[in-house]
Amino acid sequence: MAPGHVKQAAAGTRGRDSADLRSQVKPAPFAYHRAHSVEEAVALLAELGDEAKILAGGLSLVPMMNFRLARPAALVDVSRIEGLSYLRADDSADDGAGGGLRIGALTTHRTVETCRDPAVRRGYGVLPRSARWIGHYPIRSRGTFGGSIAHADPASEWCLLAVLLDARIVLTGPGGQRTVPAAGFFQGYYSTAASPDEMITEIWFPRPAPRAVLTEFARRQGDFAIVAAAVSVDIQEGVCRRGRVVLGGVGPLPVEVNADPLAGAPAAGPTWQAMGELAAGQIDPPEDTHGDAGFRRKLTVTLVARALAEASRTAEASQTAEASRTAEASRRAEA
Ligand SMILES: Cc1cc2nc3c(=O)[nH]c(=O)nc-3n(C[C@H](O)[C@H](O)[C@H](O)COP(=O)(O)OP(=O)(O)OC[C@H]3O[C@@H](n4cnc5c(N)ncnc54)[C@H](O)[C@@H]3O)c2cc1C
Repeated sequence: MAPGHVKQAAAGTRGRDSADLRSQVKPAPFAYHRAHSVEEAVALLAELGDEAKILAGGLSLVPMMNFRLARPAALVDVSRIEGLSYLRADDSADDGAGGGLRIGALTTHRTVETCRDPAVRRGYGVLPRSARWIGHYPIRSRGTFGGSIAHADPASEWCLLAVLLDARIVLTGPGGQRTVPAAGFFQGYYSTAASPDEMITEIWFPRPAPRAVLTEFARRQGDFAIVAAAVSVDIQEGVCRRGRVVLGGVGPLPVEVNADPLAGAPAAGPTWQAMGELAAGQIDPPEDTHGDAGFRRKLTVTLVARALAEASRTAEASQTAEASRTAEASRRAEA
């Protein structure tokens, strides 16, 4: 369809047939626009106003429209915009020269999961490792990173990891670009700091997090987590220097709990269990058909302890790898 071409979708407006059609379709009527560039998408959003919504993979938006939980008057389809599917990594921390990992908004979950770039695997391996928790293969093949962040489900893996890894959300609007820290971006159930005329174009992870782990519990494989725990821990000579814990499914947005007691504690099972209990004491989880608050607290204890134990094994493995790299480098220097 040519730029700016509008198609009336769902319940059509063509005389006699429209009533029949209206009874057969699930979503409320909407106009469809396809954008071919970020500039065109942003201009359409500005022109169409609050009633328009971006369509990316459609995996969250379309079911909501089918249940008429969302009734946008217009959709701006961004899925064919070129140049927004990428992972660009530099595993040094950002030094003002553009380090870190940049993920384009239209990058699918599957592209992250299958990324083999050594710089991504080394510094940000938690992202490819965690993608397997997202839905099923078809969901991961079509759903986008930017769509997950924009949808802001409080149990979404990418939302949790964005907070844990201090990601910055890059938004493009009619006035240009702005960058919002993930911690301030999520504002409640399915609610973010993005304006209706802004599009997420990139998610930037400024610092590597080699010792981060996400784990979760769902009743069936592929379901959203009932509770998810994302942690990072820095361990030196068997002692934790610092750690962070972010939880999903326990409130309206990803919840970071106070993990200060990890600093100075031995890197061992009792520390992970104590941190799990401390985390569970800091949350006020909701009650729904998937479980009550007590169940979510118990899950929190187990998942935090499990994630920290896994992160500590990752820490040991990377220290061993680092030590052998250093030994190899000095052998070569001596030869
Ligand atoms: C059966 C099933 C299981 C799932 N399981 C999980 C799971 O375990 N974990 C998980 O995290 N997700 C899960 N999902 C959701 C999936 O990850 C979606 O891909 C994701 O939530 C939304 O991405 P999308 O590209 O499909 O966005 P869409 O559905 O197209 O859009 C979602 C929302 O984001 C907005 N939006 C999209 N892109 C942008 C952008 N670039 N800028 C601004 N706004 C934008 C849209 O307007 C809309 O409001 C599941 C979905 C299904 C159907």
